[in-house]
Amino acid sequence: MIDRDALLEKYRLERDKRLRPEGNAQYVRVATHFPHMLDDPYTPRAERAPVTDHVRFAMVGGGFAGLCTGARLAQAGITDVRIIEAGGDVGGTWYWNRYPGAQCDTASIIYMPLLEETGHVPTEKYAHAPEILAQAKKIARTFNLYDKALFHTEVERLSWDEARKVWLIETDRGDKFTADFVGVGTGPLNVPKLPGIPGIETFKGHQFHTSRWDYGYTGGSAEGAPMDRLANKRVAIIGTGATAVQCVPHLARDSGELFVFQRTPSSVDVRANAPIDPDWFQSIATPGWQTRWLENFAANVGMGGAAEDWVQDGWTDLSRRIRARVMQLPPTEWTPDNIMKVWEMADHEKMSEIRERAVTVVEDRQTGEALQAWYRQLCKRPCFHDQYLQAFNRPTVTLVHTDGQGVGRIDETGIWAGGQHHAVDCIIHSTGFEVGTPTEERAGFDPVGIGGQTLSQAWADGMQTLHGLNSAGFPNLFLIQFAQAANFIVNVPHNWMETGSTVASIVRHMTDAGLATVEADADAQAAWVQLLLQGPGMMINNPDCTPGYYNNEGQPMDDRARYAVGYPAGPNAFFSYMKGWRSDGQFKGLRFG
Ligand code: NDP
Repeated sequence: MIDRDALLEKYRLERDKRLRPEGNAQYVRVATHFPHMLDDPYTPRAERAPVTDHVRFAMVGGGFAGLCTGARLAQAGITDVRIIEAGGDVGGTWYWNRYPGAQCDTASIIYMPLLEETGHVPTEKYAHAPEILAQAKKIARTFNLYDKALFHTEVERLSWDEARKVWLIETDRGDKFTADFVGVGTGPLNVPKLPGIPGIETFKGHQFHTSRWDYGYTGGSAEGAPMDRLANKRVAIIGTGATAVQCVPHLARDSGELFVFQRTPSSVDVRANAPIDPDWFQSIATPGWQTRWLENFAANVGMGGAAEDWVQDGWTDLSRRIRARVMQLPPTEWTPDNIMKVWEMADHEKMSEIRERAVTVVEDRQTGEALQAWYRQLCKRPCFHDQYLQAFNRPTVTLVHTDGQGVGRIDETGIWAGGQHHAVDCIIHSTGFEVGTPTEERAGFDPVGIGGQTLSQAWADGMQTLHGLNSAGFPNLFLIQFAQAANFIVNVPHNWMETGSTVASIVRHMTDAGLATVEADADAQAAWVQLLLQGPGMMINNPDCTPGYYNNEGQPMDDRARYAVGYPAGPNAFFSYMKGWRSDGQFKGLRFG
């Protein structure tokens, strides 16, 4: 029996220990403090002449957002598409994040985009990073998105030319070209961040961020070859989020000694990965299968509920439990208040099981207890792994639990935590990505629309879009992101495949009708934003949660943050609404010219 009051008190105490008054200011920008740490370790940069031509559609970002948009445009017959990408190839997060053990946390058959269109059959329930990157490249090849792509290229300025009705795109490679349409899909977690630990710049050993894995130093490969150069090294990893949970087992296996510096433990549930049986796959792969699976998953992680849970994993488990508890109530008691109560109890039950798992798997009781997560499950990104907790049973692995305080100091030879010095050869920063910093800083540019107004000026009081995609005053600009749209963060590629279809229908319609410009009608946009603000708001900005990027480090949110919400009726309702919207040929709420 769970003592709810005692548990909530424990959650509060743990949260308070971790709270830091400086919020996001505790982190430092890699670009300003350690620019070399952002260098691309995977692809040499090739010199090329600046580009000065014109394309029909320019897509900023070659990750899944850009690839899905490009693919849907190609399917609609719009082939003059140019991807502009900071990395040396397509793939976005999967281009950069090649740390050992990287794999998707959402089932491959719904996470990997456009499987039906490319004919790829995922090999595992949760595919590893090289296979996901290969799928990104396959999408680019299938839809000829390599032809005009510019890699190792960053957009510095994006401005609307009202006289010529085109966007002017200027890059750090001296390119100056125009496009009828621009898509911006730079991703939500694209800028690595480092902890502002005193002395971090004095360390004389080697240090790098997980999103720029230095296989030259560690040996091994992203494909899984052992990191043989770590055999005699004392290695530190700072951070125990979703990235660390995946790479710690590999570091534990290959390092002479490994020190894992933990500030807040992650909740680590069962992974249960398994190969995908090609015969089983063929049995489900009838036309339209991926859309059906996407919708089934989205329904099962939402509160609406689907008849049957096909994916059956840790994400759908919590919703299944909540629904089961709701069904135990008489229908007359299905009030929002009661639903929140049973949700909370299902959460406590689930988190108690996950905490129990930690002390069962980890042989040393004290270490197991230090790995227990004391917060509600969606306070932080839930993790799933079957070798992470086990790694702490190796005699060469030490958990340095800082009990919410974090690393105190770094010096020339190592790391100080809790008054103790740990001498190490290498520090790996698994410290995540910027969230909550201004969008234009993360993207590296601020689109300049009609009358010279920038997007950040237009959104000074909060984000303003129609469907999360078009914004008044910014003609022919498509924002490929999920806020003010489905906001479906559990399976982000689902958003991209659907948004890509919407963009493609608009551009196809304009091409057929000979229209030059499109933008959100200001009134329709205001009505859309009002509709969204009437919904339940964000599910992840709970100030009672342990601090982290889900809740602005536990600091009060800027009022503008409440605009970053999704469609009140949930992701599937949004996708279905948009399907109707784009197929009736009216494109209500858009103004064409
Ligand atoms: P996170 O932001 O989740 O984790 C950063 C870690 O660094 C936290 O454990 C944090 O502690 C710790 N940290 C920060 N500063 C200090 C300090 N001064 N001392 C000690 N520890 C410190 O980053 P990740 O890269 O792990 O994950 C980011 C996101 O990327 C995930 O939430 C997920 O959305 C995505 N991701 C997805 C994966 C997938 O789908 N396969 C895999 C990996 C990541 P604290 O918790 O106390 O802040």
